[in-house]
Amino acid sequence: MAELFNFNEIGAIERSSMKKNRIDFSKLYSRLSEKSREDSKPSHCLYCEQKHNKFCNSHSVPASFLRNIAVDGKVYTTNKILDLPLFDTEKGVNNSGTFQLICRQCDNQIFREYENYLNYKEHPTDKMIAQIALKNHMRFIGKRRFEISLYNNMKEEFSKKSARNHLLDGYIDDMLRVANLDLLEYIRDFKHCKKIIEKEWLNEHYLFYYEKLDYTVPIAFQGEVCLNFDFLGHPINDIYNKSKDYKLQTLHISIFPIESQSIIMLFTKNGNKRLRQFYKQYSSLEHKDKLSAINFIIFSLSEDVFMSKSLHDRFMENDSLKRVAGLTSIQFSEKNNISQEGLTEEFDLSKRNDIPNFLLMEN
Ligand SMILES: [Zn+2]
Repeated sequence: MAELFNFNEIGAIERSSMKKNRIDFSKLYSRLSEKSREDSKPSHCLYCEQKHNKFCNSHSVPASFLRNIAVDGKVYTTNKILDLPLFDTEKGVNNSGTFQLICRQCDNQIFREYENYLNYKEHPTDKMIAQIALKNHMRFIGKRRFEISLYNNMKEEFSKKSARNHLLDGYIDDMLRVANLDLLEYIRDFKHCKKIIEKEWLNEHYLFYYEKLDYTVPIAFQGEVCLNFDFLGHPINDIYNKSKDYKLQTLHISIFPIESQSIIMLFTKNGNKRLRQFYKQYSSLEHKDKLSAINFIIFSLSEDVFMSKSLHDRFMENDSLKRVAGLTSIQFSEKNNISQEGLTEEFDLSKRNDIPNFLLMEN
């Protein structure tokens, strides 16, 4: 069976060598990533399509929500749990989960309804849901654009070295192909959401869970994730299917800490049939169990969870949480027969109660 790569299994020796080589490696990484950021910079606003020189710092989780869990203006990143030497363990609210793809004017306009906590007194509108989905797609468009530049720059960097590694070249080419396909898909979804907002279409998304908790949770999240299995272990998405005709069906999750309350939402694009069993099963869970499922899903499937610095270290050092947060879908197998089976055990939703449930905690 193919083994999954887990960031948490980077052992003491590798960690100390990462630390030792940190300066060299982080110099190379920051040089390449700086160049890639520059290369992937847009010339036109993704939304209004006007030419601009300066782009706004858009936040995946609105800064106004992040502030409710910040201590001295800072929050923990997922790397606080993994503690990989090359990455930040905490970030300032103003540069947490940011991307630069649209102009300031658009950033002020297009997310306004959903970013205003007063609008959660009532059930969120179709427009607010579409605004959230729009931003989630944008976040991935930004990520993929950056990755495509980074892979290209890595290829160029390696080609300068005399001993060229063809295996590595092939691997990078493969990642480039997948990232390009992904990018097209996210752009399509983005355009669809833009239409929903402009034409005021209704029922394009299906909000199957909306919960207002009467306390402020110590974590914040906004994003779309790709579930591998439902609660019974039946496949939802085959993430190794790289055919251009195969479409991943994603789940949007929002965890917004507001003053003395928290908003939690789960929704999907209407017509995502492969998720139907999942939300039926989800709806039948008890309240606490629903929260532990969301908690498990975001830590296992995303690296973009922000946590309050007021959380006790013992949570950050929890072994099960370290393992779950370190999960990736990267497989190393000798035969190169990448399949779903390596994922079944690791991403099993029945393990949801093995990790601390931050959604039951008060900030
Ligand atoms: Zn614009």
